Amino acid sequence: MTQVNDASSNLIARRRRLLGPSYELFYDRPVHLVRGEGVWLFDAEGERYLDAYNNVVSVGHCHPHVVAALARQAATLNTHTRYLDETILDYAERLLATAPPHLGHALFTCTGSEANDLAIRIARHATGGHGVIVTDCSYHGATIATAALSTSAGGLAVLGEFNAAVPRPNTFHDDGAGARQFLGALQAEVDRLCAGGKRPAALLLDSAFSSDGIFFPAAELIQGAGDIIHRAGGLLIADEVQSGFGRLGTGMWGFARYGLVPDLLTLGKPMGDGHPVAGVMARPELLEGFAAAEGYFNTFGGNPVSAAVGIAVLDVVQGESLVENARRVGDYLREEILTLKSRHACIVDVRGAGLYCGVELVGETLPAGSMARRVANAMRQRRVLVSNCGPGGTVLKIRPPLVFAREHVDQLVEALDAACTERA
Ligand code: PMP
Repeated sequence: MTQVNDASSNLIARRRRLLGPSYELFYDRPVHLVRGEGVWLFDAEGERYLDAYNNVVSVGHCHPHVVAALARQAATLNTHTRYLDETILDYAERLLATAPPHLGHALFTCTGSEANDLAIRIARHATGGHGVIVTDCSYHGATIATAALSTSAGGLAVLGEFNAAVPRPNTFHDDGAGARQFLGALQAEVDRLCAGGKRPAALLLDSAFSSDGIFFPAAELIQGAGDIIHRAGGLLIADEVQSGFGRLGTGMWGFARYGLVPDLLTLGKPMGDGHPVAGVMARPELLEGFAAAEGYFNTFGGNPVSAAVGIAVLDVVQGESLVENARRVGDYLREEILTLKSRHACIVDVRGAGLYCGVELVGETLPAGSMARRVANAMRQRRVLVSNCGPGGTVLKIRPPLVFAREHVDQLVEALDAACTERA
């Protein structure tokens, strides 16, 4: 951290003192941000950064339409879901209209973790099963239940006897074998749990296999996975906390690319452009018994301000044709990075959909994960923000706001080119 200036050093020391050691900072030289606008972030010294990482601000930092909706509703009324109010109903109507008709009810939470947690509770109740099956480098949340299923973040150690993890459907390293292994392992885990009297309640899959390293396996593979869990009496939960709201450039929801319909859909991050809004869309029949037995209330989930923000985000995604933009600009991004791949031996795979791109990196002299971290740090020095993911962190994760344009791709690719050129 030799290049960190005094002001940043003071903030780092204050964080340690006040927040303790749990909070991680990005980059060897952390960024101290003070303002955001569209795809841009500005630091305390007035330097401008291209944000190619933050999917939460899906329609751009501080989008004026979203900010106005938030301010207007905050100045009018904020309560909770135990009073009559049109805003949450208008939002639910708009949201459900984007999903397949069988997902007929919406429930609101504040975080993606809570959304997954709630979906698991519903699945347990509806199926009589208990555990959940996930991939082996996934992230699904920070509650006790979802942390145990977040195998990329220590979950494997606390997975427990009812849950199971299967190899991620790796479409790269092994010429399709990893993807096929996924189905075999899933069937084996389902059989093992059932034989031990621990029938699973659900298969929980991130539609973009984000923390697993960003993979988009063949549709038949995910359909096969859905069949396996359904035959065992479990449900399919699509975690769209990262892949939802148009990011993949083919409609609003990532699961649609696999030609199947999940039983439960969990939402979060991009839903509120930075405001904490999340939720679950569910088949109505799944909620009947659950509501009678357990009920559901979330003090902040579905409050009128969050609902107004959610509506404003949908206005922008639909009004500014951001799904189409994600497809067009995302295709261009991958084309340009593929061109770099022909010149840089460190780039060994480029994959993705829409504005979600994973670039697998290896180093000549460095371990692979160190290479991806070095490239992300070098790009940060050029004021382009990306990060990395996957087991060992070998994959550069590019996931900008959906308002990203071709000129932003050009700037990103120039920074990536220069970062790959620097010798390890
Ligand atoms: N699911 C996925 C796929 C995620 O990426 C995340 C957050 N990284 C979550 C769930 C949890 O969301 P939150 O942090 O809003 O609780």
